[in-house]
Amino acid sequence: MEEFEREQEALIANTYTRQPIMIVKGEGPWVWDRDGRKYLDCYSGIAVNNLGHCHPEVVKAIKEQAERLIHTSNIFYTEPQLVLAKVLARESGGYKSFFCNSGAEANEAAIKLVRKFAGPGEIITATDSFHGRTMATISATGQPKYQQGFEPLLEGFRHVPFGDAGAIEDVVTEETAAVMLEPIQGEGGVVVPPENYLKDVAAICEKKGVLLVLDEVQTGFGRTGEMFAWQGSGVDPDIFTVAKAMGGGMPIGAMLAKPGVMSAFEPGDHASTFGGNPVACAAAVASINVILKENLLERSRTLGEHFKAGLLELKPRHTEIRDVRGKGLMIGVEIEGDGAKIIEKAREQGLLFNCAHGNVLRFTPPLNIDRELIDRIVQTLDSILSEGI
Ligand SMILES: *Cc1c(COP(=O)(O)O)cnc(C)c1O
Repeated sequence: MEEFEREQEALIANTYTRQPIMIVKGEGPWVWDRDGRKYLDCYSGIAVNNLGHCHPEVVKAIKEQAERLIHTSNIFYTEPQLVLAKVLARESGGYKSFFCNSGAEANEAAIKLVRKFAGPGEIITATDSFHGRTMATISATGQPKYQQGFEPLLEGFRHVPFGDAGAIEDVVTEETAAVMLEPIQGEGGVVVPPENYLKDVAAICEKKGVLLVLDEVQTGFGRTGEMFAWQGSGVDPDIFTVAKAMGGGMPIGAMLAKPGVMSAFEPGDHASTFGGNPVACAAAVASINVILKENLLERSRTLGEHFKAGLLELKPRHTEIRDVRGKGLMIGVEIEGDGAKIIEKAREQGLLFNCAHGNVLRFTPPLNIDRELIDRIVQTLDSILSEGI
């Protein structure tokens, strides 16, 4: 065990299973550990570093804003918040924003807005979903492993199988408050629902007068090839939540709602001291501008297809590969057995990615990665699987 591991064990809550390296620097798709070893980063801080590390435009925006104003209170108006709200309204087609600092907080805000708007009815979510680690969001999350030991949970959630609109139709009534789903499940193992799933769910919600909430915390900002994944699905949710990639690495999240739904919130209903922090907002504006300027939505789509094709070529040769799936540059490779060994071998060869749901290798590289580097990832995986796991 290294010195920093021992120190950390003594000083920091033991809530994470960490990889045994200390990252000290990042640039583009690369990170370096403190021994100077370089890694290709397809972990991307769990789908946060969509622009790679320390994108110069984001760094510049942070520096400039930090020199002007780092923090004040939401009882005052601040310019970066307004600029960001305009950008988000433009990109979403008219949604209003509530700013916060993380995905869980964005979902908390969504759950509160649902209750304020629709009253105390149930919120239907999916099994194997992931919505965050606060009490309300673990209650929304459809995975017992995140809930055990923390009961009693918040009341009012019901879980149904993901990808099956009929399962929602079976339980939804006029009393239901909302249906809350990820467009593609991330922590659940990169699960892409059937083609018309969201459309069918939206039609059911419409018919019953039930709110549709989409958790875009992982899928947002180009990860799946759209600014927001719902834009490629033919639905427009009443509420959607974002965070992870929003601030180019800075902590920021938002709950966005159609104006008629957001109007259920009145002064005093919800708040966050740091929500809409000027530096985080400036970083988010810069980050969204880079996505547009560098054409990263298109790039996410074309590189994603290239990546999947490469992985599919490995499948016949490596029987451990059960499935290759995903959209844009959110890609999962389901394997037979334990993903942890593959993660470790890849790290030793200078490649970082993670494993969702125990056996799904999850690749979320920066959207501005090169085609050659994608090929290198496929080759590395090929050689690791060839050695046997
Ligand atoms: C990561 C994630 C969250 C939680 O976000 P935090 O910023 O960790 O609170 C919520 N929903 C989804 C879909 C996520 O991937």
